Amino acid sequence: VFAKSRFLMIVLVFFGLGTPALGAAEMMLEYIAHASFRITSPTGVQILIDPYADQVWLGYDFPQSVSADTVLISHPHYDHDGGDYRGLPTPWAADARILRFPGNFQIGDIKITGMKGRHVDPYGKEFGQFNTIWLIEVGGLRILHVGDNEPLSGETMAALDQIDILLAPMDSNQHIWSYAQLAEISARLNPHIIIPMHYRLGDLEPDADHPGGLGDIDPWLETQTNVVRLDSHQITPDQFMDGAPLILVPQHWPGLTRPN
Ligand SMILES: [Zn+2]
Repeated sequence: VFAKSRFLMIVLVFFGLGTPALGAAEMMLEYIAHASFRITSPTGVQILIDPYADQVWLGYDFPQSVSADTVLISHPHYDHDGGDYRGLPTPWAADARILRFPGNFQIGDIKITGMKGRHVDPYGKEFGQFNTIWLIEVGGLRILHVGDNEPLSGETMAALDQIDILLAPMDSNQHIWSYAQLAEISARLNPHIIIPMHYRLGDLEPDADHPGGLGDIDPWLETQTNVVRLDSHQITPDQFMDGAPLILVPQHWPGLTRPN
């Protein structure tokens, strides 16, 4: 992707057409909170990943009215699947398509590959530790959402090849992956952008013991270089693709509050 877009830019500049893509529809990634993101394709197709249940383990609600054409769910834990806990109302539109299991899907201009994974130990034994890893190809970029997968196997990484954007579970308690495991996976998949997820959000969860076992993100960020903190929950990745590899830290969805 990198080489191709550079080539295109050179060709367009050569013919006097200026910098491409300004104002053109780009893919947009939005951070909701925890491990939940929404992706909007250049043609406006929207997919929502791992929408969590309101105030179960996490102390805050899922925002209302997050529209999506398709919902991807990695595994049936309440912090990833708001529709599978105590029969609570689902946080997505009733007519949205829900994908939970491995397979190949085309949703408008978004190509989705669900790969068989395994939930990190020791959690998820009640559902056989299944966890679907989602590869999402949109707007010329390859995005990987791993849910709560154990550190990726060599076989999985060989099948994935190169990734542009890695959504990686990371927190100072190393609840899902350790710092070293993420470093190893990143060295292999060579993502241009890493966006950490699945950590305690300090403004919503001021108590370091809540949710239990989940650390914040700052101690890990302090071990990294090229960290960019964004002032929005919205990310348009194209603007970051030509420079050095980055770790992007978006805000969570605006208006999320911690109920008393
Ligand atoms: Zn989780």
